[in-house]
Order: sequence, then structure tokens, then C-alpha cells
Amino acid sequence: MTVAANLEKTRATIREAAARSGRAPDAVRLVLVSKTVSPERIREAIWEGQTDLGENKVQEGRSKAEALADLPVRWSMIGHLQTNKVKDVLRFADEVQSLDRLSLAEALDKRLQHLGRGLDVLVQVNTSGEASKYGLAPQDVSAFLKDVAACDAIRPKGFMTLATFTPDEAEVRRCFRLLRDVRDRARQDAPQGAALADLSMGMSGDYPWAIEEGATIVRVGQAVFGPRPLPDSHYWPS
Ligand SMILES: *Cc1c(COP(=O)(O)O)cnc(C)c1O
Repeated sequence: MTVAANLEKTRATIREAAARSGRAPDAVRLVLVSKTVSPERIREAIWEGQTDLGENKVQEGRSKAEALADLPVRWSMIGHLQTNKVKDVLRFADEVQSLDRLSLAEALDKRLQHLGRGLDVLVQVNTSGEASKYGLAPQDVSAFLKDVAACDAIRPKGFMTLATFTPDEAEVRRCFRLLRDVRDRARQDAPQGAALADLSMGMSGDYPWAIEEGATIVRVGQAVFGPRPLPDSHYWPS
């Protein structure tokens, strides 16, 4: 299957899942995850109108943003971000979905103030409880949002999570529902209030479930580009 055909199939699956969850077919945003994929293949997706792309490594994202600078791409940073990479990430990213600690918010804010611009962010929450996963514990989100309110250039729009990596549908859905609960509570309590609408959850293996549980953003890579060669190998040097 070509990138174009896979993309059309994925879009149809997203529309159907949105309809099943009682929402408009276009209510869910697709962030196409292009990590390890070459700029030439990414171009095939952009030609199909897919301009919303996600990368999980700063250096790889920057290189691709430069290689595709002639096209109107909106880049999301979706991977763990070291504080010393803040300057570099802001050279290409239009959004950071992996805000997971106050020191990172403060470093981003400082740089953004210098640049005179703002940044949309999602707060990453660890809903699986796995020690290997990044993200705030659900019970720490409320205090975190109060602290982040002091960072004027940071605009929290919602939350992001990775579900437990398991074929167990009930466990995966539990993670997604937990993120939705975190969002619903934050909308009531947080200084940012009603701006906290987004739920970024669901990847190639589980995005229809995520949409049924309320996802407004899904992050999908392999369903469109095919399997990545090896779990930890990268076509693109990092
Ligand atoms: C790689 C990645 C995805 C997409 O995973 P696929 O299996 O390719 O759909 C989503 N979110 C994050 C944070 C990722 O690193």
C-alpha cells in the first residue's frame, strides 16, 4: 500500500470512530508521526494535504523541517525534551505535546519571552503508571497547572498520554479514560480553565479506542508509513 492509500484509510477510520463517539467526522486532528521516515516519503503525505506532522527527537525534527521548508508543515514535538534542547526545539516546533515538568516550562517560557512569541503545549500525563514512561502523575496535574500559569508565553491546550503497551483493550481504555478525567477536572479547577480542551491519545495500534474515549488528537505513524525497521534503529541520525 502506498502512503497516500494508507493515509486515506487512516482518515476514514478516524472519521468513523468520531461518528461512533457522537462527534463530527472532522472533530479529531491527525498528527502524522514521521520519526525515522525520510523527507522524500513524508512529502508523499504532504502532497495528500497532511501538513500536521510529529517528531520525537529534536535533531531529527530540525533536519526534516529544513528539508521540507518549502512546504507548509505544522510540526509537533511529541517526545521527551531535555531542557538544554529548548532553543533548538523552538527553531522548528509549532507545538510541544510533551510538557512534563516545571523546569521545562520555565526554560521554554524564558526562551519564548526572548523571541517574543507564545507556544501551544499539552501536558504529558503518565496514565499507565509504568516507571519507564514520562509524564506527570495524574494527582500532580492540578498543582502543576497552577505553577505553569506564571509562564505567560506557555499556552496549555490540554493533555497527552501514551497508554500501556499491551493488547489488553480494557487496560488501554483505562489509560485513555484516566486522561479524560484529568482533563475534565482541570477544566473545572485550573487557572487555564476552558482552554484545556485537547486530549492527545492513541497511536497506530489503539487510535480507534482512543477516539471512542474522547481523543481530539491522535498521533499515528506506522499505520501510514509501515512498520519501523527496528524498535530502536533510526533511519535518521539523532
Ligand atoms: C512513535 C510515537 C507515536 C506513533 O506511534 P506509531 O506506532 O508509529 O503509530 C505516537 N506518540 C509518540 C509519543 C511516539 O513516540
